[in-house]
Amino acid sequence: MARPKRPNVPVVIDGHEVMAYPDDTVLSVAKRNGIRIPHLCALDGVSVYGGCRLCVVDVAERHKLMPACGTAVAEDMEVHTQSRTLQEHRKLILEMILAEGNHVCAVCVSNGACELQDLAVELGVDHVRPDYQFPRRTVDASHPKYTFDPNRCVLCTRCVRTCSEVEGAHVWDVAGRANGSYLIADLGQPWGEAPSCTWCGKCVAVCPTGALAWKGKAVGEMRHDPNLVAFLTSARDEGEWLDRETM
Ligand code: SF4
Ligand code: SF4
Repeated sequence: MARPKRPNVPVVIDGHEVMAYPDDTVLSVAKRNGIRIPHLCALDGVSVYGGCRLCVVDVAERHKLMPACGTAVAEDMEVHTQSRTLQEHRKLILEMILAEGNHVCAVCVSNGACELQDLAVELGVDHVRPDYQFPRRTVDASHPKYTFDPNRCVLCTRCVRTCSEVEGAHVWDVAGRANGSYLIADLGQPWGEAPSCTWCGKCVAVCPTGALAWKGKAVGEMRHDPNLVAFLTSARDEGEWLDRETM
């Protein structure tokens, strides 16, 4: 169904009435109205994954917390995005993500330009309560242009969705289960030997951490471009280019 010209579904977020499109999620309408909901796996321009759970919100009438990225709006829905409980949940989720990998910012190519690091600052994560797992995952530097450090991968699947849905190459996938899950290229080959890869760099652009990076970047030099995909898909889906300056 085509979108109406103007948003026509009233929704109340944190006490303010905002108008949503019928196909909006709580996260998308909040974003458009300047209401910040912390999130990590959500990425404009690709499908919803709902894996990180950082965007949990309180929806009146529902008896559990809901992920804002995967919750469709409904008329007169009442949403709360800020509370002590939500803050505590988000903080613990982020601590678990940090404990699960090796996020040593001081030696990371994305130090100072990392969404995970920014979220830790935003949520006030100054220490981590779960035990650190200290994984020893092999870095894949086989690609001529890029590197993949799975120790810094948070399994957000942004790269998986971008490569599959936008580039159409579907190089990346997630193998394994639960905390044994890991990212694979072309059914488990070194990335540099994956024939599906077109070397487009879109996956590297959208990675929220230092897991995917351009080769040759030193500590703090890697800059990602998470708005790239929304920019590209706006042309594909709507026939018009979004102004990147306003994204
Ligand atoms: S460089 Fe492009 S084709 Fe290769 S894995 Fe990344 S998104 Fe896919
Ligand atoms: S490599 Fe980056 S984009 Fe891909 S799943 Fe890991 S953290 Fe997410």
